[in-house]
Formats: sequence, C-alpha cells, structure tokens
Amino acid sequence: MYRSHTCGELRKEHINKEVTLSGWVQKVRDKGFMVWVDVRDRYGITQLIFDEERTPNGVLETAQRLGREFVIQVDGTVIERESKNANIPTGTIEVLVKNITVLNESKTPPFTIENETDGGDDLRMKYRYLDIRRNPVKNSLIFRHKVGIEVRNYLSNEGFIEVETPYLIKSTPEGARDFVVPSRMNEGQFYALPQSPQTFKQLLMVGGMDKYFQIVKCFRDEDLRADRQPEFTQIDCEMAFVEQEDILNVFEGLTRHLLKEIKGIDITNFPRITYDEAMRKYGNDKPDIRFGMEFGELNEVAQHKDFKVFNDAELVVGIAVPGAASYTRKEIDKLIDWVKRPQVGALGMVYVKCNEDGSFKSSVDKFYNEDDLKKWAEATNAKAGDLICVLSGVANKTRAQLSALRMEMAERLGLRKADEFAPLWVLDFPLLEWDEETACYHAMHHPFTSPKPEDVKLLDTEPGNVRANAYDLVLNGNEIGGGSIRIHDKDLQALMFKHLGFTEEEAKAQFGFLMDAFQYGAPPHGGLAFGFDRLVAILGGQETIRDFIAFPKNNSGRDVMIDAPAKIDEEQLKELHIKLNL
Ligand code: ASP
Repeated sequence: MYRSHTCGELRKEHINKEVTLSGWVQKVRDKGFMVWVDVRDRYGITQLIFDEERTPNGVLETAQRLGREFVIQVDGTVIERESKNANIPTGTIEVLVKNITVLNESKTPPFTIENETDGGDDLRMKYRYLDIRRNPVKNSLIFRHKVGIEVRNYLSNEGFIEVETPYLIKSTPEGARDFVVPSRMNEGQFYALPQSPQTFKQLLMVGGMDKYFQIVKCFRDEDLRADRQPEFTQIDCEMAFVEQEDILNVFEGLTRHLLKEIKGIDITNFPRITYDEAMRKYGNDKPDIRFGMEFGELNEVAQHKDFKVFNDAELVVGIAVPGAASYTRKEIDKLIDWVKRPQVGALGMVYVKCNEDGSFKSSVDKFYNEDDLKKWAEATNAKAGDLICVLSGVANKTRAQLSALRMEMAERLGLRKADEFAPLWVLDFPLLEWDEETACYHAMHHPFTSPKPEDVKLLDTEPGNVRANAYDLVLNGNEIGGGSIRIHDKDLQALMFKHLGFTEEEAKAQFGFLMDAFQYGAPPHGGLAFGFDRLVAILGGQETIRDFIAFPKNNSGRDVMIDAPAKIDEEQLKELHIKLNL
C-alpha cells in the first residue's frame, strides 16, 4: 500500500496514528541532527520530521540526501507540531518518520514548483507536467472539471442526451480554415476535423434525438490571435420543436445554474438587446454592461458649425468618462495618442471637460459655444466632473474605435470588476456579412442559420439587411456562446447556399447529405454552443483560457512540450500518397 492518507488529510484528530504517505519532496530543511521535509501531492502538503533520537538508523541520512521533486514513501506516526503553521490545513501536525523509500529520483526542476514560480511562460509550457504540480494550474484543472460536471448535471436533468459525433469528417464551414487529415486508404482524399459538430447535431434532430448536447473538441485553423487555441472545447447543444425563446430560456437556466453552483451568485437579470442596438450603444456586438459609458450620437448637435472634420463625418459619437474632467493636458494628450495607435486607428479625438461648476472646456472651443457643448453632454449623459471623448469618421470604424476606448477607460477606472457578472443576450444578428477581401457575402453565423421569415423577401434586393434568428450570450464583454434557429426546409437551404455563392453542384457535393436528410421529415430545430474554455476562465475570474487547459498550444499554435506540429518521415508520406513541394 503506497498510502493510508493523502498529504492534505491529516489533522489533530490523527495524532498518534500510524500512517503511510507518498508524494513529492517540496522542500528539505536540514539542521544536521534534525531534518524537516515537506511532502506534497494533489491534496496538499504535510511536514515530515526526522531526528537523531527518534528516527531509526539510516532513515535520517536518506532524508538528508533528498532533492526537490524526489518521489518518496514514508511510514510514521502523526505527532503534534511544535511551531504550528496556520496557513495550511495540516499545519497542526507533522509525521515522525520511521521508514522512508525513495520511489523515484528527480532532476532539479527548471523552475520552482510554488504558487509564485520563477519560470517564464515558455519554460512552463515546455515542462507543463511540472507546471501542473503547482497549485494555480492544478486548481484551474480541478475547477474546469467541476464546471463540466455541473454542465452535465444541469443539461442531463433538463432531458438532454450527450451524444458523441465523429472527428474525422468533411468540412463544416464555421468561418475558419479546416485542419485536414489525409486518408491512407483513399488516395488523394482528406478528412477535415470538425470546426464544430454543427451538421451532425442537426442530423441528430432529424434522427429524433430531440435534445442533444456534447462537451466536445472543435478545430479551427485560424490566424492566431492572443488567447485563441486551434483546438478548443464547446458545450454544444441542439433542440427540436423549439423557438428561439425556448432556447434562450434553457441556456439562461444553465448560466444561472453555473453562477449559483460555482460562484454562489444569484443572477436573475438576462437583459436582451438587438445587434443593431448593441452596435449603436456600445459599438460592439459583445458589450460589457457592468458599467455605463453608453455612446451618445452627436451628428445632430455637432454638424451645424464650421468644424469640417465633424461636418464631413458619417458619424460623430462620444462617451462620457466618469470623473475624468480632472485629467491634465498631458494625460489627455496621452489618451489621444492611445486612440491614434494603429491597433485603434482613430485620426484624433475631440474632448470636452465638464467642469464641476457646470461650465465646459473643450478642444474645439473655437467652433462650439457653451450651449452646443451642453447638448453634447445631454446626448452622452455626461455629469459634472466627466470627460466627454468624441470620435468621428466612417460609422462602423468609428464605433469600433470608440468601443476600444470605452473598454480601455473602464479598465483604467477599475469598472470591470472580476466578481461582478452581467450576462446579456444579443439578438437579431444580420444573416450575412460583406467580406471586403472576397467581395461577396458570407454567413455571419453559419450557412444553416435561418433568416427571419419576414426578411426572406429582402434576400435578393438588400441581402445586408436580412436579419437572422441568431443570438449570442455575452458575459462581461465576452461572447460565451452563440447559436441560431436553423433552416429545416430543403428549398430554403438551397436558396441560402445560392446566396452564399455556391453553385448547385458545389452545394450538393458539400452538403448533399444534409439536404437529403431534410427530405425525410426534418423537425424545426435550433441550438447553440458555449465556448467552454472561455466560460471556465470567466467563472474562474481570469481572462486567459490557457490556464484552464491542461496542455495548451502557444500563441503560434505549437505544442512546445511534445514539439508539434512536426515533420513526418518519407515512408509515412508515401503511404499517405503525399509529395511535399517545399
Ligand atoms: N456551431 C455553432 C458554433 O460553433 C454554434 C451553433 O450554431 O449552435 O458557433
């Protein structure tokens, strides 16, 4: 028997008990005649004591030769500790060791296995198995497990069935490139790894499964952005015989359940806004509504004077930053530099200080008088002491820039509080999105999303204005999930493919299986998927998903521990009928 107890288990009531522990050496303190060793496992740390008087011959000497991260097993007696450690649950006792076995030695680890480590990101990724021994990473993985269990409990209680769908499939367009897998037995042919189980879950609805879910890996070969993983996990769901309202209710319930079970927080309010409103009020389709600073559109009150910059702009729009009227000239200049950074891309910024005495001071006093500025303050909901920041230009770009500024100011002012949770449904997304690069429309969500019935007639004439029965759940400025009511009619699906630029043959070759299935009694259906990694990170109060993934890839999509991707040998290439053209 390797252990009678874990290293996190022993307390006062175990005093005088004979125990066996196994674990890793965290620390050795050697006073010559007395040695203390901290032994650690997943459950905690226990102090072992060896001394000349009470420890049998040879055992003390073995303790003196231990190095960090050696794996040991000890037998001994639990005794009361003289100097107690209130910081750890086992801090009132120690184990007086009678017998020690070194189960395995260890090289000195490349970084310290402590809560605060001296290891940089790269080093920790390379030795992830050592990183996992550290509390922050270990606890994140345990936390992820807990969230997963709660998701399964909730959905299972609601009648959802977890069904596994295949990983070796044909491309499912979700807007990214596919990872492909060559088929040895089918020369020149490839599987694609699923960007999501989208078509399969729809086929499960045709199959009558009615309520499906799966905690599932998805694969997207995207240009990597910070904190994106090429493989990630979704809570994927689909339901039949439902309307949008039914789906929103179930997943509000899931979110409420998780916030309650995991965070102990009761959230009842899940406000809803349309995509258009989100863009107008926050310049963003995933607004953080934990704080105000809603956009005030100023065209009407700013385009009647000789200020050409504003007069030429499609949109003049501002936000009131609370309490920032006290900013010095230098601080404001810095802010202007910030919005001019290429990442934000504004050409400049106009500001108005709303002084405590009710007067205004602006960077455009030459053009606008107090009465004008008062109207700006009204439109942006500015109070005395606020700083109104105004941007102008092409509408959608300007909104995005002001949204970046809004988030930055909220961050600086400490308004994005980690312990506050504000969910929000964003509804009525556009069905199609114009893509500058390819000069054609793409499905904003995916090609299986149903247009709003009343907008179908606009498909030919104003495709950009067709709204979809599509929705996102946003939490604290992060999109945590999204989905839609699907098309379940073969002809409408064919029409959709046509609008997305597929010829009939192409649509048939790629999605014939789905359109065929729609001829055999496809029920009305819809669903959504939550990004599991992100959800776990947000519930865990952190922004980076990497900490919650056991073996993540780095920002260039590499696994630096196993060194993948990697070359494969000639023989393997030949079997796969692949000739490299490098
Ligand atoms: N398949 C979609 C996605 O991965 C989610 C859905 O529409 O259910 O975003």
